[in-house]
Amino acid sequence: MLNFPSVSDFLSGSPDLHERKTIADINRINIFFIRLRLCKALIKCKNNKLRISIFLSIFVQQNPTLQNMIHEIAPHHFNNDFQAGIKLSEEDYILLYEENAVLLKRSEGILELPRKKDFASNNDDWTCTFLFSFNGVPCFLLQDKILIDEPNLGFEDLGFFRSTKQNEIAWICMVGFHLLNWYRQNKFCGKCGSETRHKEDERATICPKCNHVVYPKISPAIIVAITCGDKILLARGTHYKGTWYSLVAGYADVGESLEETVRREVKEEVGLDVTNIRYYKSQPWPLSGSMMIGFFAEADDNQPLSIDKNEIAEAAWFEKGNLPAYSSIVSIAGEMIDRFEKGQGV
Ligand SMILES: [Zn+2]
Repeated sequence: MLNFPSVSDFLSGSPDLHERKTIADINRINIFFIRLRLCKALIKCKNNKLRISIFLSIFVQQNPTLQNMIHEIAPHHFNNDFQAGIKLSEEDYILLYEENAVLLKRSEGILELPRKKDFASNNDDWTCTFLFSFNGVPCFLLQDKILIDEPNLGFEDLGFFRSTKQNEIAWICMVGFHLLNWYRQNKFCGKCGSETRHKEDERATICPKCNHVVYPKISPAIIVAITCGDKILLARGTHYKGTWYSLVAGYADVGESLEETVRREVKEEVGLDVTNIRYYKSQPWPLSGSMMIGFFAEADDNQPLSIDKNEIAEAAWFEKGNLPAYSSIVSIAGEMIDRFEKGQGV
């Protein structure tokens, strides 16, 4: 399978270099204020593990120079430690979704996560689930249907990550969406069919009848940049909404090592035998609940291409310096192609 739609559909709209430098400037200006907020959170925090994590974020992590993949949001701080028994407070962030859209607060073009206090209709009967923390502030998933009266609150399609300069906001909304889908898909026990409940001491659901416990599901998928000297194999999936090219990708199957997945997927999708498979990086991709695991590999371009038309609209070798439009650098596919294009050692 190549570039499953839920992944590739979102990989577009790469900001150009000038825009990325502007983003970096904005980030530098904001770093002082973000660190100030984190210091405040550090003082208030009573969870030792979280305190260490915030401390490292303030004093150890380096400032960004250019915007990187979308999950690399430093100096902002995402912490997915589950805090048992935490209660929703007025300052906490609320993540509320409607289909593929998330509720955000917008003021003068700046997007913010809404806090509980931003809702006139907020009350203590809301059904909220603690998800994770952002910059030291707990984020809760709200699954109640509520009336939104506030003019500065509105739903934003999750695809906004393609164009926003606030990657950190987009990332938090994407991760929350992964957990929302997981909670929705596990309302009932897969073993006995009883209604499940949220486990109180960890991020999991538990069946009150048979005690079956389910943890968040993450699906491993390989993504592979196939090169031959100064050429790289790029492909467009049949499910693409855009016209840009990407890399061969696919889910790991049962009983397979990731290297075996790389060999199988490449053979199935484009008919090539690959060698010299090297791990590059990974990228969580919450919109499809995947973990994208990036590899570089080599193939002889004398081999005939045999394309699986069910998955791929087009695949071809392209020479460095003459690449077509390709995936945004917020994705691992975009970063890998970019790295090849710039000769940064693949
Ligand atoms: Zn059960």
